[in-house]
Amino acid sequence: MAKKKKGPRQIVGLQCTVCKHFGYVTEYNKVQEQLKKQTTGESTFPIKKYCKICKQHQIHKVMKKLK
Ligand SMILES: [Zn+2]
Repeated sequence: MAKKKKGPRQIVGLQCTVCKHFGYVTEYNKVQEQLKKQTTGESTFPIKKYCKICKQHQIHKVMKKLK
């Protein structure tokens, strides 16, 4: 029986920092994030994404954990 691997992933929402529109839901992997930080010195969040309310790319930041 194959077991599904449950990583330290969590579902988070991304909110536009300009208009506060809650536009994206994404999977956030803590381990991958830390690995990326160690290797490149950069973190994924806040991330620049297209906001349909602002109609341009804005900084989005992680707002809350969703289940
Ligand atoms: Zn916006």
